[in-house]
Amino acid sequence: MLPTADELLDGALGFSIPLTTTFRGARVREGLLLRGPVGWGEFAPFPEYDADESARWLSAAIEAAWIGWPDAVRDVVPVNAIVPAVASQEAAAMVRDAGCTTIKVKVAEPGQSLDDDVARVAAVREALGPAGRIRVDANGAWRSDAARDALRTLSQYDLEYVEQPCASLAECAALRLIVDIPIAIDEALRKADDPHRVVGLREAADLLVLKVPPLGGVRPALAIAETYGLPCVVSSALDSSVGLAAGLALAASLPELPYACGLGSGRLLASDVTSDRLLPKDGQLRVRLPEPDTHAAVAMSTSDLAAWRQRLTAALAALTHPSGAT
Ligand SMILES: [Mg+2]
Repeated sequence: MLPTADELLDGALGFSIPLTTTFRGARVREGLLLRGPVGWGEFAPFPEYDADESARWLSAAIEAAWIGWPDAVRDVVPVNAIVPAVASQEAAAMVRDAGCTTIKVKVAEPGQSLDDDVARVAAVREALGPAGRIRVDANGAWRSDAARDALRTLSQYDLEYVEQPCASLAECAALRLIVDIPIAIDEALRKADDPHRVVGLREAADLLVLKVPPLGGVRPALAIAETYGLPCVVSSALDSSVGLAAGLALAASLPELPYACGLGSGRLLASDVTSDRLLPKDGQLRVRLPEPDTHAAVAMSTSDLAAWRQRLTAALAALTHPSGAT
């Protein structure tokens, strides 16, 4: 039984947090924190997501606040820092500040060139030293030939893996046959209609990126990991510390965790909904459940809050009656 819209919105807090750098073209992160019987859940689908796509985000928030998560099998989770598509000097400074030995570097940013990517990855390698790990994320922006050329050039910096190099799984599978760098699949999994039956995934993927909100919760994400039996990296959706706690719960309950997780994204937020922020220390996060501080979470305007309450109501309707269902 799903909670009603009134139950979901009773005690909900809106948050609006400036970002420290432009990310996904945005300078602010907004959403709702829902208060349920077992804790807090975050509902923060990106602005362009419609009710159908937002429905899984609502499922994840309901699981967090109304159901709770499976037991953890570890109490610390290694995390990577993220370097967005910034200039090389800024990238090097971010690596020095991060305190992480694994760095994810955004590449293939629209409007930038391979030279920009090479300069950024080179700066990260120099700042990190030879022992650190570097992974890159193209968000599916390369076509096959560009991906092949870019990865052959970037391989001199010793990449741990490349995340979603091309948009289609067929292109990723073809690339996998000709480059030595492992391929992680992110968008093609989390945007699939049925993430348990993604055609061509096994041919394209060496590992999977799991994000709790777009996969509908910690339990659905664990089930997907079990379906494919591939190594998994848990990553955030630029969540506040309440949302990050769900990613941390997934990372803490996966049977195997061979890679550092993308849960160090708290540093991209200029503030947070809690003073107990989930920020990495020595490249790790201690598994815990931060509570929002009411005063930190009310920065959203009244009109924005009304719009978010409407988004939640629409997502609940989509969850109750998925499109295509009768
Ligand atoms: Mg990604």
